[in-house]
Amino acid sequence: MALIEVQDLKKTYKIGTVEVPALNGVTFKVEYGEFVAIMGPSGSGKSTLMNLIGCLDRPTGGKFILDGSDASKLTDAARAEVRNRKIGFVFQSFNLLPKMSAFKNAMLPMMYSSQRRDPKRVREALESVGLGHRFHHTPMQLSGGEQQRVAVARALVNDPPVIFGDEPTGNLDSATGVEIMAIFQRLNNEGKTVIIVTHEPDIAQHAKRILRFRDGLLESDEQVEEQLIAVPRPRE
Ligand code: ADP
Repeated sequence: MALIEVQDLKKTYKIGTVEVPALNGVTFKVEYGEFVAIMGPSGSGKSTLMNLIGCLDRPTGGKFILDGSDASKLTDAARAEVRNRKIGFVFQSFNLLPKMSAFKNAMLPMMYSSQRRDPKRVREALESVGLGHRFHHTPMQLSGGEQQRVAVARALVNDPPVIFGDEPTGNLDSATGVEIMAIFQRLNNEGKTVIIVTHEPDIAQHAKRILRFRDGLLESDEQVEEQLIAVPRPRE
């Protein structure tokens, strides 16, 4: 069984009476343990696809199976529940709550789910991204790279099978971007499935497979021949 199975997936947005086709019938599978980069020019449907497979939106056609269950026809509430349990999100602009500490930010997904709050698990998630010494800092007191690492810890606390990154290095300088890729590669080596959207070929080269989109269609689907291994800077 694949982790994600997308069959002839379609999305058309309606603006008044105008229909804007964004995804025109896309079919692919992602197996457990893969590391996939999604690429394509602006307007090619990448965000639309991420919103659908991230259970943030519903398709207008086709089918989408996530971890064995059909996620294409869920109610909003059921979709939110699946999202919380199965997917960890990391965004380009970190999306941390500014007044909360790193610890509270990382704990947030536990508060939105029926799962009990587990401070030990939050500590472990922050320690695993090298932030054991930054629990009480607010986002303003952290560098961009540290903020993104809090976001990665937040994505990990509910132990979802898949991590989605939407341009996760887009707001970081390249050395810091590589540090985030090093974390994703380690998580992938530990068995997590990682799927990222990126514009940057160098970043995509850290994945094991690249899906390229154009005009709402899957243009190519290739294994990365020479995966770049991210070597993070030594810390002072
Ligand atoms: P990408 O992420 O590759 O830049 P998108 O998925 O954002 O592409 O967009 C694909 C197409 O769908 C574009 O033509 C875009 O204008 C359109 N689109 C995206 N989101 C919406 C929306 N909420 N309402 C209307 N049209 C949209």
